[in-house]
Amino acid sequence: MLETPHVIVGAAIAVRSGNPYLAIPLSFLSHFVLDEVPHWNPHLTTKEGGVKKVDPNSLKLITLDSTIALISGSVIAFSALPDFNRVLLILICCFLSVLPDVMEAPYIFLNYKKEWIRKWLFFQKNHQFNTNIVWGLTTQVLTIIAAVWWMVQ
Ligand SMILES: [Zn+2]
Repeated sequence: MLETPHVIVGAAIAVRSGNPYLAIPLSFLSHFVLDEVPHWNPHLTTKEGGVKKVDPNSLKLITLDSTIALISGSVIAFSALPDFNRVLLILICCFLSVLPDVMEAPYIFLNYKKEWIRKWLFFQKNHQFNTNIVWGLTTQVLTIIAAVWWMVQ
């Protein structure tokens, strides 16, 4: 799944629970749950753990998605000011919600070819429900809407 829905769900978990002992593990686990929702995103790796040549359009989408994820997570977090503990909890949960993908970044983008990351890549690759672009983007927009709706209740 793209990073934006991951981050907004992570933030929503933090906002709704407010309890770090619950929100921190749940936001991390939410990553794996969301990856089982039918979705579409650019594929940068092969089944064997090889890295495909990243085409310019995929790179643009990844940059846009990461930027929106960063901005939306920060906006949600800092709207909890002046409660600094809450800001911090939301930021931590946003980060944990995308950590499984962030862990792959050095392997894909920095040529840091460690065996444990390759194994991790392989694990994540086998725990994805991929579908076509139209349905795959629709489910992610719906995920974002549902998470925002839940958050503002
Ligand atoms: Zn993932």
